[in-house]
Amino acid sequence: MNPQQKDLFFMAEAIKEAEKAAAIGEVPIGAVIVYKDEIIARAHNLRETSQNAVTHAELMAIQHACEVIGSWRLEETTLYVTLEPCPMCSGAILQSRVPRVVYGARDSKAGCVDSLYHLLNDPRFNHECDVTEGVLAVETGELLSNFFP
Ligand SMILES: [Zn+2]
Repeated sequence: MNPQQKDLFFMAEAIKEAEKAAAIGEVPIGAVIVYKDEIIARAHNLRETSQNAVTHAELMAIQHACEVIGSWRLEETTLYVTLEPCPMCSGAILQSRVPRVVYGARDSKAGCVDSLYHLLNDPRFNHECDVTEGVLAVETGELLSNFFP
């Protein structure tokens, strides 16, 4: 697979996670973390089920990936998420030093990678990410527009 095919493949896996969230009445957002071409963590939004405000897909995937790698530094990983990360998850991405983030649809109400702020590309922080947006943008956007008719 070339790099673009890899991005499509792993975003499709993040979409599978989002679909798991939708199936249990959660806002459909899914994430996977890839290390050396393997998915080491996958998660979907569980805010309603857990009644815990921090149980966003990215945050739980980061926590799991740290356990798998045995380090708070997620170097050499790529985080795929169906929706542009919020300020909390962008903060966790910076804290865990994820070098690359790929997301699907923009979130004009809470997105802090491109929409409202550029938290992953602010040279005042001690970490910046390589960001690719718009991978399977139509499919990832439809997850949400179908959920919120
Ligand atoms: Zn979030």
